[in-house]
Amino acid sequence: MEGTVYKSTGSWYTVKATDGLFYECRIKGKFRIKGIKSTNPIAVGDKVHFELDDKGEEHVGVIHSIDDRKNYIIRKSVNLSKQTHIIAANLDQVFLLITLNNPTTYTIFIDRFLVTAEAYEVPVVLVFNKIDTYNKEEMDEVKFLAALYREIGYTCIGISAKTGKNVDRIKEMMTGKISMFAGHSGVGKSTLINAIEPNLDIKTAEISEQHLQGQHTTTFAEMFDLSFEAQIIDTPGIKGFGIVDMEREEIGDYFPELFELKQDCKFNNCIHLDEPKCAVKDALEEGKVSYSRYRSYLQMITGEEENYRIDIHGE
Ligand code: GDP
Ligand code: ZN
Repeated sequence: MEGTVYKSTGSWYTVKATDGLFYECRIKGKFRIKGIKSTNPIAVGDKVHFELDDKGEEHVGVIHSIDDRKNYIIRKSVNLSKQTHIIAANLDQVFLLITLNNPTTYTIFIDRFLVTAEAYEVPVVLVFNKIDTYNKEEMDEVKFLAALYREIGYTCIGISAKTGKNVDRIKEMMTGKISMFAGHSGVGKSTLINAIEPNLDIKTAEISEQHLQGQHTTTFAEMFDLSFEAQIIDTPGIKGFGIVDMEREEIGDYFPELFELKQDCKFNNCIHLDEPKCAVKDALEEGKVSYSRYRSYLQMITGEEENYRIDIHGE
C-alpha cells in the first residue's frame, strides 16, 4: 500500500493511504537520506510504501520504502550529538505572514527566511496581514515591500485575517497543495488558519504535543486535511525554519536577483563586497538592486544583527 505520513511520534507513523484510511505504521529496515544524519528517518509529508501487519491487526502496517523527497525542512537538535531532526517533507509552499507593527517584521527577518527557503527549495508566499489596521503611510510601506519582492519573483498578497479580506485568495492558492504558515508570534497565523477553516482544532493538538514535548524534548509536526482539497502542516513550537549551514560564498546564491547578476561579475567567486567589476555593485548604484536586500545580504555575510525598517523614500 501507498500513503502519506500525517503524524509521527518517534516509533509510530500515522499514514493516510490512497484508500483514504489511516494506518498506524512502524518501520522496517534503515532509511538513510544521503548526506544527512537525522534523528527521525521518516517525517510528516513523506510518501511511503507499506504492508499490512501480517498478524492481521487492523489498520496496522510496516513501512518498507520511502519515495524521494522533493524538499524537506530540518531543525538542528540542541544536544551535543548535533543531529538534525526532519520537521517535514514535500512541502508545496510556505506562507510567511508579515506585519508592520505588533509585531514588527523587519526586512532582515524576511530575507533570512527567504534565503533559507531558497536553500530548502520551498516556495514562499509573502502575506502582509492586518491591512485593516494600516493608515495611508503604512499601506504605502506594504505596497513598496510587495512591489520589491514581486520584482524578485515572490508572490505577495495583502490580507486581513480579521475581516476576511483576500482570505479567499489564500484558499485558492492552497488548493491541491501542502502548505505551512510561518511568521513571528502575533502576526495572525492562528487567526488566519481559523478564517480558512473554522473547525480545525489545531489548538487541541498543540496542547497534547506540548505535553509530549516535555517528555521527549521533541516537537512533532502534524498534517491536517482541510475541507477543501488542501493540507496544512502544523509545527507546534517551531516558529520559522531552522538555520541552514551555509558557506559565506554560498549565501548570495540564495538571493535570486544577486545570483542572476553574479554571472556578469568579473570574478566567478565574487561575493559583491569590494571586488572590481562587480555586476551587483553596479546594479545597486543604478538602483536595479534593492538597497534593503543588499543590506540584508551584507548582514548575513558579516553577521551584523541590526534590525532595519524599509525606508520607502530613501531606498
Ligand atoms: P499568531 O501568534 O501568529 O498565531 O497570531 P494570532 O492569530 O494569535 O493573532 C495575534 C493577534 O492579532 C490577535 O489578537 C488577533 O486577533 C490579531 N489579528 C490577527 N490577524 C489580524 C488582522 O488581520 N487584523 C487585526 N486588526 N488583528 C489581527
Ligand atoms: Zn559581484
